[in-house]
Amino acid sequence: MSDHRLSCPGCSSAIPARAVALELQLECPTCLTRLGVPVVYQANVLVASFVLGLGAAWLLGAAAHFVEATFLLAFVFAVFLGTTVVPLVPPKLQIR
Ligand SMILES: [Zn+2]
Repeated sequence: MSDHRLSCPGCSSAIPARAVALELQLECPTCLTRLGVPVVYQANVLVASFVLGLGAAWLLGAAAHFVEATFLLAFVFAVFLGTTVVPLVPPKLQIR
């Protein structure tokens, strides 16, 4: 839990977390290094969204449309995680 600020691995300049949440492949605005979010991090966000969606669908008792509800809610949670949690717990950016 040292530094939660996102920075470019190439030149150490700050990268806005919002940019990372919206586009998983981005470019450092300072040195133009192409950066990427680690696959493990993307997978964690995906799994978390899906589990939250599943849990929410179950809680809502959407038995008739369980699969649809799960995917819809998973998408809602993915947006939530991307805009709220990613800036709080940003990934370590990689050079592509
Ligand atoms: Zn850079």
